[in-house]
Amino acid sequence: MKISFPRMGYSYIAFKWLVENLGHECIVPPEPSNHTLDLGVRYAPEFACIPFKILLGTYIEVAQMGAQAVITSGGMGPCRAGYYWVMHKYLLEEMGLPMQIIAMEMPLLNLGDFWGKINRLRRSGGVSLKELARILKITWEKVKAIDDIEIRSHQVRPLEVKRGDTTRAINEGLAFIDAAQREHEIAEARQEALARLDRVPQDQSRNPLKIGIIGEIYVVLEPAANHYIQLLLGEMGVETDRSIYLSAYARKNTIVNLEGDLFAIARPYLNEAPIGGHGVNSIAETILYARHGFDGVVQLAPFSCIPEIVAKSIIPAVSRDFDIPVQTIFIDEQTGRAGVQTRLEAFVDLLQWRRSRRETVVEKRVLQG
Ligand code: SF4
Repeated sequence: MKISFPRMGYSYIAFKWLVENLGHECIVPPEPSNHTLDLGVRYAPEFACIPFKILLGTYIEVAQMGAQAVITSGGMGPCRAGYYWVMHKYLLEEMGLPMQIIAMEMPLLNLGDFWGKINRLRRSGGVSLKELARILKITWEKVKAIDDIEIRSHQVRPLEVKRGDTTRAINEGLAFIDAAQREHEIAEARQEALARLDRVPQDQSRNPLKIGIIGEIYVVLEPAANHYIQLLLGEMGVETDRSIYLSAYARKNTIVNLEGDLFAIARPYLNEAPIGGHGVNSIAETILYARHGFDGVVQLAPFSCIPEIVAKSIIPAVSRDFDIPVQTIFIDEQTGRAGVQTRLEAFVDLLQWRRSRRETVVEKRVLQG
């Protein structure tokens, strides 16, 4: 069977390996482009959120490339994401592009559903149960390595002496992960990728501003959906930390998921959890970034996304109480990269000014005291 999936950052490298090793042909989804979005906007309901439109555009593209099925995520709780795969299926059928949509629930929340679907894929691809365990393990190792490499790249880029060196290094590193077939090869590829990033000439005298990126999962994870915000900020000399990484659901590798119960952290501001999507997370993560000394936070919110709108209405109180500026960027099909860049530049100027003012106050105190 020819199978595809939604593209979310670099994770396509691991999912491509998974599909191929389950005995199917993988149609790798192209990076979302203006054309992808145009297709989605043309056929989606007007008020659907941007992830719905980009995914619909992607499914049309991969259907035209020959995909017969897509593996996607389901969704539970009070957010329309759980219905999206059903609507995508109807819309594709109406367009004359019938597509099997295999919607996976989160394994940690519904292991039976996950197992049943992955088992069917295994059987139709002629893969043994023993082999399946190895394939899932290797896929997971790839996901973790990809995340580790990306996290390091966002620390290196603001220090790079020559613009573009970090991007070149990460692309080389990811190619090693792509080529790795066994667990020990992935470990070696990860080491080499991290070493290449560390070898990028860096100006260690810089003290970059630190910004946390929070918001709805799809626009946080897919750079094409958020106008490459981490790349833009990195090239402005800002270190970014993203609140969501795929591997972070099962291990503690980011500032945010080191801290445990996000609902408990958000509770003083919102007692009505869950509100769907990542709304509660956005509130708690703003608090966590403030506690960890970040200079500011950028919230990425799809236009008409209720969970992020609720979070946005509460965040000013959090911002005031924890003295951390938050810039919300709503994203829809009208959002342009130049507009995002201008807003980021203004935000970075504000954060720089706040930091200089703080440093001046400290210097004065030292001189006086
Ligand atoms: S969280 Fe927001 S953007 Fe994501 S599917 Fe739900 S409503 Fe849409």
